[in-house]
Amino acid sequence: MNYRVDDRGYYGDFGGAYIPEMLYPNIEELRNEYLKTIAQPDFQKEFKSLLKDYVGRPSPLFLAKRLSEKYGAQIYLKREDLNHTGAHKINNTVGQIILAQKLGKKRIIAETGAGQHGVATATVCALKGLECVIYMGEVDIKRQAPNVARMKMMGATVIPATSGSKTLKDATNEAMRDWINNPVDTHYIIGSVVGPHPYPEMVSLFQSIISKETKQQLIEQTGNDQPDYVLACVGGGSNAMGMFYHFLDDDNVRLIAAEAAGLGINSGHSAATSMLGREGVLHGSRTILMQTEDGQVTEPYSISAGLDYPGIGPQHAHLHKVKRVEYVSITDDEAMEASMELSKLEGIIPAIETGHALAQLKKMTFKKEDVVVICLSGRGDKDLETFMKYFNL
Ligand SMILES: *Cc1c(COP(=O)(O)O)cnc(C)c1O
Repeated sequence: MNYRVDDRGYYGDFGGAYIPEMLYPNIEELRNEYLKTIAQPDFQKEFKSLLKDYVGRPSPLFLAKRLSEKYGAQIYLKREDLNHTGAHKINNTVGQIILAQKLGKKRIIAETGAGQHGVATATVCALKGLECVIYMGEVDIKRQAPNVARMKMMGATVIPATSGSKTLKDATNEAMRDWINNPVDTHYIIGSVVGPHPYPEMVSLFQSIISKETKQQLIEQTGNDQPDYVLACVGGGSNAMGMFYHFLDDDNVRLIAAEAAGLGINSGHSAATSMLGREGVLHGSRTILMQTEDGQVTEPYSISAGLDYPGIGPQHAHLHKVKRVEYVSITDDEAMEASMELSKLEGIIPAIETGHALAQLKKMTFKKEDVVVICLSGRGDKDLETFMKYFNL
């Protein structure tokens, strides 16, 4: 079975580039240049050097002993929470900023919902001294004030999107409009494995460092680079794609992706795309998305801002359809309890997004010798207020 992208930018039935004609030149340039540029020795040298000295890689693979004891398995945590800026997103923005510079771009744009991708983008723009414009819904700007402040401190201009529901999809529209108007000097950094080809492929390539390191670390720590289970949470799907990438062809390794069920799959307040979604086009690619009978995109909901997305990337749609990856859904309550449990058992406060992957442990039965790897996609500092309210701390 082939899980990779084909020459036309498709993963089976999913992917492609469904974009307005005015964006063709931008996407065409990227499609023609990205693989060549990434393969160049000076790109690789700089990417590796920044991942090591700026991001802090390799991130540790930690055998969580008390968690392992509780669930009766050998549970390893891939510590993306220890990266600079506190999550996996920086792996991708570091890769894309080097690419943008090599393509001669002077200006960076991005859209952000909760602000995490905006912060990761503003960070690398400051690092490189490139102009940075972040589009963000007016409602989200009010909800996510600390992230807006972070972006501003690092020199980014944050432009409110004031149309529609004033949230992520409106910010995306504004960013697209900007890119159409500035095709020559501007690069658009997308933050997950979504969007028109080649974005899903490019982002998964940059995030694949997660599973590359994990395999080496498993050999060192267990003598075998094939665990029994690999778990990750899915919003758009970038930490999961990075975590799964080098395991896709290892048929013995069971891959499990946790989506946000929000208040419950059938509550009308969730982001459980693989359970509720149907095929369609979202953000420039053919994928699975939550939509009404007549094809309007449904407003998603999750307590974790990073999973609050109405679709999944096209490669995930393919992996779901061919059943290579098992997609499960986890409610707000389950994710919050699992986040608290990890904090208590291991002294690691995870992002609520990651809590969704951790919560899946309760629903599985293991043999003592089973090796389980969980992508700890981010740290919980950003979620402190939500934890305080939820647990009455
Ligand atoms: C953004 C984010 C996610 C979700 O994004 P993916 O592209 O699905 O990885 C998950 N965890 C954390 C900590 C995040 O910040």
